[in-house]
Amino acid sequence: MKSHAQVVVIGGGVVGASVLYHLTKAGWKDVLLIERAELTSGSTWHAAGGMHTVNGDPNVAKLQQYTIELYQEIERISGQSCGVHITGGLMLAGTRERLDWLKMAKARGRYLGMDLEIISVDEAARMFPLMDKTHFTGAMYDPIEGHVDPYGVTHAYAKSAQIGGAEIVRQTRVTDLKPRPDGTWDVITDRGNVRAEHVVNAAGLWAREVGRMVGIELPVLAMEHQYLITGDMPELKGQKEQLHAIDFEGEIYIRQERGGMLMGTYERAGVPWSEVTTPWDFGQDLLPNDLERIAPSLEVGFAHFPAVGAAGIRKVVNGPFTFAPDGNPLVGPIRGLKNFWVACGVMAGFSQGGGVGLALSRWMVDGDPGADIWGMDVARYGDWTTLAYTNAKVRENYSRRFSIRFPNEELPAARPLRTTPIYERLQTAHAVFGDYCGLEHPLWFAPSAAEAHDQVSFRRSNSHPHVAAECQAVQNSAGLLEISNYGKFDIRGPAAAEWLSRVMANRVPAVGRIALTPMLNERGKLIGDFTMCRLAQDHFFLVGTYAAERYYLRWFERHLPPSGVSVRPCAMEYVGLSVAGPNSRALLQTLVRDDLSTAAFPFMSFRRMEIGMVPGYVGRVSFTGDLGFEIWVTTDYQRALYDSLIQAGRDFGLKLFGGRALNAMRIEKSFGTWAREYRPIYGPFEAGLGRFVDFNKTDFIGRAATAEEKASGGALRLVTFKVDATDADAIGDEPIWHDGKTVGWVTSGAFGHRVNQSLALGYVPAALAGADTGFEIEIIGERHKAERLTGAAFDPGGALMRR
Ligand SMILES: Cc1cc2nc3c(=O)[nH]c(=O)nc-3n(C[C@H](O)[C@H](O)[C@H](O)COP(=O)(O)OP(=O)(O)OC[C@H]3O[C@@H](n4cnc5c(N)ncnc54)[C@H](O)[C@@H]3O)c2cc1C
Repeated sequence: MKSHAQVVVIGGGVVGASVLYHLTKAGWKDVLLIERAELTSGSTWHAAGGMHTVNGDPNVAKLQQYTIELYQEIERISGQSCGVHITGGLMLAGTRERLDWLKMAKARGRYLGMDLEIISVDEAARMFPLMDKTHFTGAMYDPIEGHVDPYGVTHAYAKSAQIGGAEIVRQTRVTDLKPRPDGTWDVITDRGNVRAEHVVNAAGLWAREVGRMVGIELPVLAMEHQYLITGDMPELKGQKEQLHAIDFEGEIYIRQERGGMLMGTYERAGVPWSEVTTPWDFGQDLLPNDLERIAPSLEVGFAHFPAVGAAGIRKVVNGPFTFAPDGNPLVGPIRGLKNFWVACGVMAGFSQGGGVGLALSRWMVDGDPGADIWGMDVARYGDWTTLAYTNAKVRENYSRRFSIRFPNEELPAARPLRTTPIYERLQTAHAVFGDYCGLEHPLWFAPSAAEAHDQVSFRRSNSHPHVAAECQAVQNSAGLLEISNYGKFDIRGPAAAEWLSRVMANRVPAVGRIALTPMLNERGKLIGDFTMCRLAQDHFFLVGTYAAERYYLRWFERHLPPSGVSVRPCAMEYVGLSVAGPNSRALLQTLVRDDLSTAAFPFMSFRRMEIGMVPGYVGRVSFTGDLGFEIWVTTDYQRALYDSLIQAGRDFGLKLFGGRALNAMRIEKSFGTWAREYRPIYGPFEAGLGRFVDFNKTDFIGRAATAEEKASGGALRLVTFKVDATDADAIGDEPIWHDGKTVGWVTSGAFGHRVNQSLALGYVPAALAGADTGFEIEIIGERHKAERLTGAAFDPGGALMRR
């Protein structure tokens, strides 16, 4: 084994092998993979090898498409067969809701260039004769589904990497990792040490243990997973290979394996494996079978596919593999550790391994993953993902792998975990809560405790009239919203203004003022949007998306000067309340001595104030787009602040409102939000944020690329639509049609109660952004006429928020 390497990849499963290959492909040759035993010795060797392109996150779906297309390339380079069988696949619906879900998945696939088709039960039964069609209502057909040989794929990556210059060392375990002051690593193994510039944790089942070597607790947990293989079936003799099928009602996937069928389940009563530590002596072992646990699923499966039930079980496989709480991979650099990268929690290595390797290698070599991988970024998790939280969420995710997640469905595991001081007050007011980063926040308020729950639906649900009443209160009198679920940063120091000016695209505000600003990467793409508030010459309060706190911090720390600026995340030290609506000023004025008139405290002002007995920061700004104020206080004061606002609000028609109403109102104002309208695939001019880019500054990150975008206009444009919807509104990820062709995608949608219109925000090609007619938006399989609005649906001139 060599003593120095540019990169050490820990783990020779399908993911580590893919990372290694992609690093060599990107031009890094001095790369070394260290494997504890033989390649595939973790979860890879006993995988069923199934692969498919469909994923809830369109950006992850794209990487899955890439992975499947890659197999030809690595077969060609390595001469190693990947055992690819592209059979095509069926997703079988047993209920109307599932068929709706499939229609939505098909629609989303359309703008990703996927060739999905909704077919009748009869058609499905013709394609897949093993099914008993009486149990189903329809199906979706995907021509690009199939399976591979896990051994073949891993070795094809590994050999291709070796041909590209990589070295692979087997039977060698990394036992420790020690950072050196120069940012390099000592990789300690049981067979000598290696000094590496970069380390990649691709240790799969042992990713937690490797994480602990550097002091981090990665939110991954292995679950036991079982599949069975039947004996040879006469029904398959002489037939062409059967399709893959997913039967959602039985939580079952099924495909042909030689002369029989392979059937696996994601059963409700899933069981975690090695909840705290993974034994190092676990080799190419299987776990004891537990058919009783999956019996309810098998019963459904055998009823739905009777010939499979009759065939008899030849073999059962029970093996562990890892999941993150949301089931998506954990990829990227770890904040606070120099040159330490992860590629783990990959639960679908044969659909995702290639995309993970590509994204990570680009990130390491070019400093940027080259694609929008927010859904896989390890930075999407924070301190709340404790071992027990991860355990609860992974179990839930596993048991729901084939369940429908409705757009208004909040999942119950690991709740309530984090609450603010007014949680009980809001409960008493019949709040229906959502979970955001483990934090309970109010979504809407019901008239009674009995009604305080969501009836899950793809269509307008039971919350609709109550959200309408909340929006109308904001429009006509005043609304009170909890806004604690934002990320906040306290930024100080003599160089703070200069640093912010470089990191943010907009002008740094004057003392007492607020500026909205995009944050851009060097490619001029959006990697954040912030409310920048200036308290003093050398003191700022920055508000952004809480889920992205670590993502932002990783970026901030990369660009911090050695001295002169301190950045402190303070998300839960400051919690907040917002009052909005025409009466909000008069209401708040009863509690503060400062003059809140527009002359004295104009729109976008920010100041320390005392609100009754409570000290806090008050900003004259509201995401509702109406006159409004955001008040930030330290957590200990929030209850008192709430009580005084509620008390004062009695004379001003104050009504509580929640996140659903806020979402509807910000869409009425065409205000975008992180991870929906603002993502690293869009530039600020495409996203309609051009006015927040200050080209008078000679330097800020992304300036050159953004100047080019400004000159060219960019390829895309964010547009607001009024939709002729009936009982279901767009929610995001629906295709936008123009003149009979899919041209774009919706990023957010809702019913705008203040304007009494169904609305959607979405991206279309810039060349089409001026088209007045011909747009349609597909909602649950039906195309609805959509009218492009030239400005925001509500108060397009912005007079109300400035009044
Ligand atoms: C029963 C079953 C069925 C499955 N079916 C499918 C399927 O149909 N389709 C699909 O896409 N996925 C399937 N999977 C999941 C798939 O197996 C995983 O997504 C994939 O194996 C993850 O690969 P990995 O490289 O991340 O991890 P692993 O395969 O666990 O690889 C990690 C490697 O790192 C090595 N290692 C760990 N620590 C160290 C150390 N300190 N030093 C040196 N080496 C170390 C290990 O020995 C191991 O070889 C299935 C899994 C199971 C269990």
